[in-house]
Amino acid sequence: MAIPQHRPLAIFCDFDGTFSVQDVGSTLAQQLLPEKRARLWSRFVDGEFTAWSYAMALLDGLELSEKRLDEFLETIDLDPGAETMVEWCEAEEVPFRILSDGFDWNLERLQTMNNVQFEYNANHLDYEGDRWRLAPGRPNEACGCGTGSCKRGLISSYRAENPDAFCIHIGNGRVSDLCGALEADLAFAKDTLAPALEELGEEFVPFDTLHDVLDFLRAREVPDSAR
Ligand SMILES: [Mg+2]
Ligand SMILES: [Zn+2]
Repeated sequence: MAIPQHRPLAIFCDFDGTFSVQDVGSTLAQQLLPEKRARLWSRFVDGEFTAWSYAMALLDGLELSEKRLDEFLETIDLDPGAETMVEWCEAEEVPFRILSDGFDWNLERLQTMNNVQFEYNANHLDYEGDRWRLAPGRPNEACGCGTGSCKRGLISSYRAENPDAFCIHIGNGRVSDLCGALEADLAFAKDTLAPALEELGEEFVPFDTLHDVLDFLRAREVPDSAR
């Protein structure tokens, strides 16, 4: 699978488990709400929830002070290639955007803590006293992914405005990344996203860290004639 030389690239990247090592929401729930999470998760597996209604049932109203949230977020690591990915996109003038089914508040804090900056779409988290109040970012009934921020919808909107763009999606999750990976021209996949694409007979590029993705992208810079 190759990236065309003559089309402008646009890179869309999942956050949890892709740009970051740990999944913020599920790690937090495992630590603070292990029983509630196990109970709701089995109902999610039984099909009682969409991804978004599961997140609402689990985390809306969560009591967690901003200070304690910050302490937790300090334990989240970015992928070893995360910073280089952002720098490479800046240097190459390739639009880079995080598409997350997590929360804007956490992405803002993690950017500050890690001294990295990116554009993003995500769901909304506001504080009411010490409690979380959640709202979806950009759901898309037509897709069927059930997430609060449908990546198919976000990538197809970008494509409508940039019809020449060669859209790349990087992700790790079957639930939140599958529709984005299918919508993109090229998908990088790991974890549960990879077997989900395999089952559908869809091509993708497997990766372990964002350094692998960068190696693949940099290979494009060499003109065919020079190989
Ligand atoms: Mg993820
Ligand atoms: Zn979707």
